[in-house]
Amino acid sequence: MEKYDLVIHGGVVVNSDKTVAMNIAISNGIIRELLHPEVLLPPSDRSIDAAGRMIFPGGVDPHCHVGQRLGTYAGLDDYQSASTAALFGGTTTIVDFAIPQPDENPVAVLRDRQALAANARSSVAFHGCIVEPESPVSKLVAQMVELGVRTVKLFTTYRGEVMASKQTILDVMRSLKQYGGMPYVHAEANHFVEDSQHKMRELSKLDAASMPQTRPAIAELAAVSETIDLARYADSPVYFVHQTTGEAVDLVSAARDHGVAAHSEVCPHYLSLTDEKYSDVHPERFVCCPPLRDSATVEELNARAVIGKIDTIGSDHCCFSTGQKAESAHDVTQMPNGLPGVETRLPVAFTTLVVDHGMSINDFVGAFSTAPARLNGLENKGHIGVGFDADLVILDDSSTRTATSEALHMATDYTPYEGRNFHGWPEVVICHGKVVIEGDEFIDPGPVGSTLQAQAIHVTSRSHS
Ligand SMILES: [Zn+2]
Repeated sequence: MEKYDLVIHGGVVVNSDKTVAMNIAISNGIIRELLHPEVLLPPSDRSIDAAGRMIFPGGVDPHCHVGQRLGTYAGLDDYQSASTAALFGGTTTIVDFAIPQPDENPVAVLRDRQALAANARSSVAFHGCIVEPESPVSKLVAQMVELGVRTVKLFTTYRGEVMASKQTILDVMRSLKQYGGMPYVHAEANHFVEDSQHKMRELSKLDAASMPQTRPAIAELAAVSETIDLARYADSPVYFVHQTTGEAVDLVSAARDHGVAAHSEVCPHYLSLTDEKYSDVHPERFVCCPPLRDSATVEELNARAVIGKIDTIGSDHCCFSTGQKAESAHDVTQMPNGLPGVETRLPVAFTTLVVDHGMSINDFVGAFSTAPARLNGLENKGHIGVGFDADLVILDDSSTRTATSEALHMATDYTPYEGRNFHGWPEVVICHGKVVIEGDEFIDPGPVGSTLQAQAIHVTSRSHS
């Protein structure tokens, strides 16, 4: 009988398609066998008793900004700290963005960030980003594909910084299509955003408390609608990051009914926090783009997620401190946007969707791991099966823990969820076949060495059904 590195026994394996009691045998970082619980356990160097526990495929966070630069601000984490926090939160793969500053070459930025990411402790993949390129789009996309990247972020807002023209969006869609790639679109129509900001500036209300009025939901709807038309015209798949309203998700679903391979990502904060935070003592700590929505909208978004209308859960992690957030809190157009969340994606989304709203655990795993892997062309990730990478999360879904920034590992001094109680915290996390988290302990596996290479993306049907 073959001797394995690690055997996990007694647990219940939860995949996006089914839940089944199985023992898992691992060697050299790969799942080698799934064994019926009654089959005699094979010999192994180490075994873990997972009785009474659920085992999820390691999380794949499709939306992560490591050390994000925004204007004069820089996010406080690096690949080592962000990926360590990710592992504590049951995420074994992060997909980061290589976003160029004005005048930077997007391919050079991507290459630089890939080199830095070799120091990560989890797996890392990348999205490129194209703004207003000097070289032809087709050439840039070909160079990104050479570097193992087939997803490109496009912004419909932030004019003069990262906003891409409609022609550029079309060009990127057509170029990516040749390689089985897909654009990742931040959809907020810039004219609505700028007009709203202008109106609020006239009223001297550009402070953090006025955040919702500076970026209304109609801006998101307008850009989703227009981008779907571009995708249909270019016969391209499209992925919408951080959708915040039921109506926006409905536009994507309707597009799918018309044959457009459109995809919806939601983020834990848009499912579990409301715009009441902007009336609180520290509204600036909740400034993100799009802003948090009102409670009725949040409920509509949860309702869509629970009936299988969303594809993925992304953190949109940005690691700024309370000091950085406070500095320009009087003017949201100058503030560093975004919330820290790579570590809390699993407990916050699991509690909100599964515990509070009744989503099936299989659909949850689909949105947390399986679909983000598939929609990034990461073929060996996001599923517990023979031949897949041995990335696993063992958890006790009945136990709860309170979120405190003190106990978290992200390189900032706050969490938007301070004091809230959540289910779904990992007990043991395995990455590349190595136990990296056991309770509160981090067993450093050392630098990952290289980044993942994305394969052509299969976009034919809804990812987790
Ligand atoms: Zn983002």
